[in-house]
Amino acid sequence: MDTARIASLRSAPVPPARHLIDGEHLDASDGATYQVISPIDGKPFTTMPAGTAADAQSAIAAARTAFDDGRWRGMGPKARKTVMLRWADQIEANALEIAVLGVRENGTEIAMALKAEPLSAAATIRYYAEAIDKLNGEIAPTEPGTLGLVHREPAGVVGAIIPWNFPLMIGAWKLGPALAAGCSVVLKPAETASLSLLRIAELGHEAGLPPGVLNIVTGTGAVVGAAIAESMQVDVLAFTGSGATGRKLLEAAARSNLKRVYLELGGKSPNIVFADAPDLDEAAKVSAAGIFRNSGQVCVAGSRLLVERQVHDAFVEKLVAHARAMKVGDPLDPETAAGAINSQRQLDQTLNFITEARSLGRKIVTGGNRIHEETGGFYMAPTIVAGVEPNDRIAQQEVFGPVLAVMPFETEEEAVALANGTDYGLAAAVWTANLSRAHRMVRQIRAGVVHVNTYGGADLTVPLGGVGQSGNGHDKSLHAFDKYLDLKTAWIKL
Ligand code: NAD
Repeated sequence: MDTARIASLRSAPVPPARHLIDGEHLDASDGATYQVISPIDGKPFTTMPAGTAADAQSAIAAARTAFDDGRWRGMGPKARKTVMLRWADQIEANALEIAVLGVRENGTEIAMALKAEPLSAAATIRYYAEAIDKLNGEIAPTEPGTLGLVHREPAGVVGAIIPWNFPLMIGAWKLGPALAAGCSVVLKPAETASLSLLRIAELGHEAGLPPGVLNIVTGTGAVVGAAIAESMQVDVLAFTGSGATGRKLLEAAARSNLKRVYLELGGKSPNIVFADAPDLDEAAKVSAAGIFRNSGQVCVAGSRLLVERQVHDAFVEKLVAHARAMKVGDPLDPETAAGAINSQRQLDQTLNFITEARSLGRKIVTGGNRIHEETGGFYMAPTIVAGVEPNDRIAQQEVFGPVLAVMPFETEEEAVALANGTDYGLAAAVWTANLSRAHRMVRQIRAGVVHVNTYGGADLTVPLGGVGQSGNGHDKSLHAFDKYLDLKTAWIKL
């Protein structure tokens, strides 16, 4: 990694950000802004428009007009593909600059951010661009004398609302298929992770996205997000974030135009280690990364460790060694394994879980405290809590911080019961060398993805989505198109 370039970018002045609406950079309609605080040192480094409902409405109107006049969906697949491929190339060409900008705002360690943010966004946009001219309709097997055609048409205006942990990766999971399908989009990034999205949207326009097709409105969920959710002009709402917000979006859709709502929510994902795992050292190494990278701010983080009792103590010891060896701190140091927590609020919430676990007599095996406070940044030591009871809040609720809750189990049945014992169902892992057991576990665990003898890393070719209160609908893979395309039947008498 080009450390000299990172050093010069880390303190480069960042001009006040502006919305991107109808191809134009705009301030909030009332001129209001808020400060962008870097979690690296707790200091403000630029400002962001505090968007108003009117800003959201003008972006939606621009997207509506762009959709209705066909300037994008009517362009033809080859031309749209060319624009999106060019966009992906430009994101890739500016990857380091974009990654550093994003890290200054959200705190993810640069080694991960570079791959998971601009480079993954470029790969996602390219993947969906390449699919544009391969989306066929269908001819139905009707009786003679009729012809049944099934057209796949862009669904219209998409409202996308996303969180702060991986704004570009998650943003591209919505933008890639939505734009490739021919939709127009209004995207609201999280309050604490908007800069890099604004930057890639700008590159999209330079690559040839017509004005109004991709609009970014910054500001709070309660104002901008709610205005998108309540709009009569938005056809599809694609959301990643918390269950509490997801619930509000469903209500808003019911109150307004019954727009389709796709929710990618949180998880409390079980990582299940059997004594017969092929390599317990490898399992410990991967499991530590599976919870502690990006300081645990990962929707699929393996935040509940279920370990077969006979290897429990030895395995926890291995994990503790990895947790203590992890370099936590300055996210712009390429050697850092876990950067900053996104905000003071998120840090405080995470520490509250630890205080509660302590008061219940649970064992804080390592970590449990804020570190590097002298920097002014928001850092926390990788934390392992053992002796957790299945109904503890730390075992039931998403912490979204570097905190692993550990529970022992005796039998496969008990492991399944514990694994399925939360309201969530996003991700899981099983470590075992027993092939039959691995398949039995995959079938029995309620989750959108079950890893076997690994954790994380599932690529774009497979869908990601949850069951239960982890949501509905899927990002990634060709299945993501289902959210942004409508089926239309032509029934023709011959
Ligand atoms: P959040 O729900 O508070 O915020 C997410 C987005 O929703 C933000 O842009 C926010 O401004 C907006 N929002 C908030 N209130 C709103 C409202 N009333 N109306 C409309 N929009 C509103 O979540 P967060 O704390 O930013 O993100 C963390 C959550 O996201 C975690 O639960 C995490 O698991 C989840 N997440 C899920 C996935 C996944 O793919 N399943 C990926 C990453 C994060």
